Amino acid sequence: MLKTKKIIINGVVQGVGFRPFIYNLAREMNINGYVLNSPDGVVIELTAEEEKIKKFIENIKLKKPKESEISSIEINEEKYKNFKDFKILKSENNSFVKTSIPVDLSICEDCVKDILDPENRRYLYPFTNCTNCGPRFSIVEKIPYDRKFTTMKKFKMCSKCFKEYESPENRRFHAQPNACPDCGPYAWVRSVERRIIKNNWLDYIVKRIIEGNIVLIKGIGGFHIACDAFNKQAVLKLREIKRRDFKPFAVMVEDISDISGWLIVKKEEEDVFNSSKAPIIMFRKKNDSVFEYVAPNIDSVGVMKAYTPLHKIIFNKLKEKGFRNPLVMTSGNFKDEPILTDNKEACDRFKGYDILLHNRDIKNRIDDSVLFLDDFKTQRIIRRSRGFVPGSIKIKSDEDKKIFAAGADIKNCFGFYRKGEVILSQYIGDLEIKENRDFFLSSYANMKKLFDINADTVCVDMHPQYHSSSMAKSLGIKNIIYVQHHIAHMCSVMAENDLEDDVLGISFDGTGYGTDGNIWGGEFFVVKNGNIKRAAHFKYVPLPGGDMVSKEIWRSFVSFFSNRMDFVYNVLKGKIEKNKIEIINNMIDKKINSPLSSSVGRIFDAVSVSVTGDTVSDFEASGPMKIEHLAYKKVERPYKFDIQKKGDIYVVSYDSLIDGIIKDWDKKRDIISAKFHSALINLIKDLSLKICRDYNIKNICVSGGVFQNRFLTNSIIKSFYGSKYNLYLNSKVPSNDGGISLGQIYYALKFNK
Ligand code: ZN
Ligand code: ZN
Ligand code: FE
Repeated sequence: MLKTKKIIINGVVQGVGFRPFIYNLAREMNINGYVLNSPDGVVIELTAEEEKIKKFIENIKLKKPKESEISSIEINEEKYKNFKDFKILKSENNSFVKTSIPVDLSICEDCVKDILDPENRRYLYPFTNCTNCGPRFSIVEKIPYDRKFTTMKKFKMCSKCFKEYESPENRRFHAQPNACPDCGPYAWVRSVERRIIKNNWLDYIVKRIIEGNIVLIKGIGGFHIACDAFNKQAVLKLREIKRRDFKPFAVMVEDISDISGWLIVKKEEEDVFNSSKAPIIMFRKKNDSVFEYVAPNIDSVGVMKAYTPLHKIIFNKLKEKGFRNPLVMTSGNFKDEPILTDNKEACDRFKGYDILLHNRDIKNRIDDSVLFLDDFKTQRIIRRSRGFVPGSIKIKSDEDKKIFAAGADIKNCFGFYRKGEVILSQYIGDLEIKENRDFFLSSYANMKKLFDINADTVCVDMHPQYHSSSMAKSLGIKNIIYVQHHIAHMCSVMAENDLEDDVLGISFDGTGYGTDGNIWGGEFFVVKNGNIKRAAHFKYVPLPGGDMVSKEIWRSFVSFFSNRMDFVYNVLKGKIEKNKIEIINNMIDKKINSPLSSSVGRIFDAVSVSVTGDTVSDFEASGPMKIEHLAYKKVERPYKFDIQKKGDIYVVSYDSLIDGIIKDWDKKRDIISAKFHSALINLIKDLSLKICRDYNIKNICVSGGVFQNRFLTNSIIKSFYGSKYNLYLNSKVPSNDGGISLGQIYYALKFNK
């Protein structure tokens, strides 16, 4: 007996070739009906035998397009309809929105073949794409995801493109950004002497790169600044432009084999490298001398593949000319500002450079994502942006609230909650900078519209001076929830792993405002019977000059070693004037402008000064990164932290650690660094076991910026391996402040009763 059913599918199902897939499947199975995109999801209505419909749905799950993700399938019986064939109908428009917006996808293999085939009409065409690849989120203005609601709307498809777009058996069937040289966007160069080069732009730009010049290239989510990664002069000049003396730059290569001579490449890393997300992956160096200008003093280099057709044809041309070096591809911005997206602004601000432009507008700015794989092949995200955003994160909650979470101030990323899922923003950056605050507000407005979420609750960090908090509070959302920074870190791991209670949370990072008004950052929490309690922390140490210590890390060094001033003078000799050190020491003694801190980030800073002698931080966490680099050494007898119990709280202090470092100071630097790392790993294990026993807990959640340290992360995982405890770390969001908004939301759902 024939039945008519309506199937609604939700998840990542728009912009990934889902309708053509359904169309072809229905045709194959001889089923009649229709499919359309609606704000509720992909809607299919069909008439067939019950068994056949069952099989059809099974096939959907089994054979769905590679980039799609199904979160729910709803099936309802309808009044019998006699369909004559199977059709793809026009998208519906409707105010309530449930589906997700697809992420930007790197160029697929079929499209690569098209653009490298001289016979193909898209030969060397930089805006080639299909249903399996191309820009998505970066060009969406509103939903449903349809060409007329993207920045492609100004290009009218030519008859050939339109035919592809209309033919279900074509790979470009309903590929919204479909284009060709006759009808689509085009590229050109505005040269250094402000000439417009429309015809030979590819030859020109490639020549300029080979000659050692710095150029700008407009990509999917913004501009990149590019140059030959092995050209010392070019890289050093780039450092001047970006006012970045040492901070590592990411590089781009065409193929993974282009770097395997210098970097250690594991099979799993290669897979992620070649995935449609195409993030920047941190590969460990084979030795110290490689990429010495691009990524000095650290042990890994960030590399991504040429992920757009435009990049692909540039590399292709470079190889034709015999040039095979990686290119630096760093965000096109000035120090810490948002990445530039607008042609005019890029031309105005980078007057003295060659700029490769195009006329496909970027609606949503989005940086490249950054991650590494730990020794157990799990992804650890450092920056969650292109390829991930705006993909949703499912969490265990059926609450029908709408929540906006503002995140934190450094590495800001905000988020929205709607029933059962969290949608995080792209990487926004440091809100100390005005342009990033503007970006925060404009991206908030955009995402609120795209996902149609009118929040009834807002979560903010407790810090009284956070820009994120004050901006969020000015949005007019009545119900405000304040969340402690390190509790939010812990909650981000709990959210990822569906944990609600009986948890030990460990949060180590640079700074965060504590409930006692001190600066926290070395915290152990216990979650028991729905309550969160601070169970242990590092001993408070004064930070002379407050915020200044994050740049002038020698101040933290003085503070940690202030009982051993002879050693302090010795280490800082010839670097910091004696009377300056005395002033700082005096501030510590007299408690002048010296807030108290339990931050592990500051311990890392202090130890890094004793190991490297470098007194200032070159960029955020540069000190810790330098000693991480030195930690890969087997050592006997690591240093020790001292644990005391005060009331029902454990306090960790440093006396033995300081003694140990001073004793070893004339030894090799890597010994101190390795012994310090081992001490921290042992401490985490020992103290965790104590607390877990005290409270009868088995689940341990570890988070915070300190765990961007790959050596530490790997070692912690190994130290708990095979034990009866379950160790959890972030893998869907960064452990740094980019994951705070997820934690804030989870806190609001689970603990703010
Ligand atoms: Zn493609
Ligand atoms: Zn065309
Ligand atoms: Fe933090």
